[in-house]
Amino acid sequence: MTATLIDGKAFAAGLRARVAEEVRALAARGVVPGLAVVLVGEDPASAVYVRNKAAQTVEAGMRSFQHRLPASTGQAELLALVATLNADPAVDGILVQLPLPAQIDPQAVIEAIAPEKDVDGFHPMNVGRLATGMAGLVPCTPLGASMLIDSVRPDVAGLEAVVIGRSSIVGKPMAQLLLQRSATVTIAHSRTRDLAAVCRRADVLVAAVGRPEMVRGDWIKPGAVVIDVGINRVPSPEGGEGRTRLVGDVAFAEAAAVAGAITPVPGGVGPMTIACLLANTLQAAKARRGI
Ligand code: NDP
Repeated sequence: MTATLIDGKAFAAGLRARVAEEVRALAARGVVPGLAVVLVGEDPASAVYVRNKAAQTVEAGMRSFQHRLPASTGQAELLALVATLNADPAVDGILVQLPLPAQIDPQAVIEAIAPEKDVDGFHPMNVGRLATGMAGLVPCTPLGASMLIDSVRPDVAGLEAVVIGRSSIVGKPMAQLLLQRSATVTIAHSRTRDLAAVCRRADVLVAAVGRPEMVRGDWIKPGAVVIDVGINRVPSPEGGEGRTRLVGDVAFAEAAAVAGAITPVPGGVGPMTIACLLANTLQAAKARRGI
C-alpha cells in the first residue's frame, strides 16, 4: 500500500471532542443543545443507528430525546410529532430516521421539519442554501467526507473531482461542497458511459453507490484522494455460514496501491456521519439563539 490511510475514526473522535468542548462552554451560559431522533418501526439497522446517535449525543453533553413509534404509525401522527418538536424550545435538532414505512411519504416529513432544526440538511430550504452558497445545515455524510478531503487536500481548487452517485443524501450535496471549493466536478451515475475512464480523470474520487468493490484499482489516477462512502455487507470468506463483513464501493487493496490517500471501510466516512450530526446540532443550537 502506498496511499495515506485517512483515519475517519480518529478524525471523528477529534470532532466529537471539539463539539463537546463547545457544548460545555454553552452549558456554562445555561444553554444545553438538544437532539430529537424519531424512529418509526423496528428496522434493526435503523435501531442501531438511533441508539448510537443517542449515546454519542449524551456523550457530547447534549440532551437526547428519543421517540419510538410503531411501524403502523400514520403520516398524520408523525407530522403531528414533528410539529410538536418544531415548537419545543428544548429541541435544537430533529432527525427522522429513514427509511420510513410505506404508508408515510418521506418528502412530506422532511418538508415538515423546521429548516433551522433540520440537522440532516434534507429540507429543500437547506438544499437550496447549499446550492446557492448560503450558510445552512449540510447533510452529515457529505459534510464528513469533505472534512476528510480537507484533511489531506485542503485546496481542491481547479482539481478534477468525480462523485459517483447522485442521491440527495450523499452524491448531490457532495458535488455541491466540492464545487463550493472550486473543484471541477463531474457527477457520475448508473447511466454514465465508461465510468472507469471518467474516474481515471479524478484527482478527488468520491464513491457513493452501494455496490461492493465496484471501483477497481485501474480506475484510480495515481496520487488521487479516494473517499469511499459505500457501506456494503457481503458474505465473509472466512468464518462459517451467515458470517458477513463490511466492504466499501472501492476495491480497497487495489486502490490503495495507486491512490495518494484513501478512506477505509469501516473506519472512514462512516464514523464522520454521527460526529457531523452532533456538529450540526451544535450549529443549530447556536444559530437559533443568535450565538
Ligand atoms: P442511493 O441508492 O440513493 O444512490 C446510489 C447512486 O449510485 C445512484 O445515484 C445510482 O445512480 C448510482 N449507481 C448505482 N449503480 C451504479 C453503477 N453501476 N454505476 C454508477 N453509478 C451507479 O444510495 P445513497 O447515496 O444513499 O448511498 C450510497 C452508498 O453510501 C450506500 O452504500 C450507502 O450504504 C452508503 N451510505 C453511507 C453512509 C455513511 O457512511 N454513514 C450514509 C449514507 C449512505 P442512478 O441515480 O442513476 O440510479
